[in-house]
Amino acid sequence: MKIDVLTLFPEMVEPFFHTSIIGKANEKDIVQCQAINFRSFSTNKHQTVDDYPYGGGGGMVLKPEPIFAAVSALQQQALPSSHPEDVQHQPKVILMCPQGETFTQQKAEQLAKEDHLIFICGHYEGYDERIREHLVTDELSIGDYVLTGGELPAMVVIDSVVRLLPGTLGNEQSAVTDSFSTGLLEYPHYTRPASYEGMDVPSVLLSGHHENIETWRKKEALRRTWQRRRDLLEGKELTNEERKWIKEFQQHNK
Ligand code: SAM
Repeated sequence: MKIDVLTLFPEMVEPFFHTSIIGKANEKDIVQCQAINFRSFSTNKHQTVDDYPYGGGGGMVLKPEPIFAAVSALQQQALPSSHPEDVQHQPKVILMCPQGETFTQQKAEQLAKEDHLIFICGHYEGYDERIREHLVTDELSIGDYVLTGGELPAMVVIDSVVRLLPGTLGNEQSAVTDSFSTGLLEYPHYTRPASYEGMDVPSVLLSGHHENIETWRKKEALRRTWQRRRDLLEGKELTNEERKWIKEFQQHNK
């Protein structure tokens, strides 16, 4: 996968591309990430990228020209000119903005199937609306709060997408059982020691009985979801056993 981040502050994003699991994925060529300063696509002599809003009001607005030019340059690099109609291989152009679709694990799974993602990070008051209307394929928000720029949100999305790419995580299974991937929150984890200051690890986890451990994990994932995120269970198809467990949680209120 190729990931390009269009930003005015590449120095915020670059260390992230070289650190920890995302750094390893870049080293192993599972992903090729780059941060590009779209100021370099500004054609005026002061290389300005923002301007005052028409109609007045506070804050500066990012101009369309440098962002359109930067995306166009990246699209041309990505697409062999002989196949301009090949829509499937067009990069996704993702605008980070608090007004966008709220980012979820399902969206991360969809994006992980793409070949090329281009992120646009805003700053200041916002963007010229023509960017939203005519350039982007997706608008993503990481939650109902407002940050100063799109760099942190873009890194949040990239992190969750890259960890899903085959070969990124040492143990592929860990992404499969993660919270939300299964539609539930994940079951609790324990490690050594088996007993710490009177706090004991559930005995089933020490039993070596794989089937019982699997059943315990399924039940605890359901319990945790029922306790903390009952909304995730709405409309979910449950087995008879899962329904029985939920009755049990209700009876004991935990
Ligand atoms: N005036 C805009 C509004 O009310 O929707 C907010 C602009 S914000 C100060 C500047 C930039 O930060 C946005 O253009 C976007 O790129 C980014 N940003 C801020 N909060 C975000 C969020 N929750 N999710 C994604 N991007 C966000």
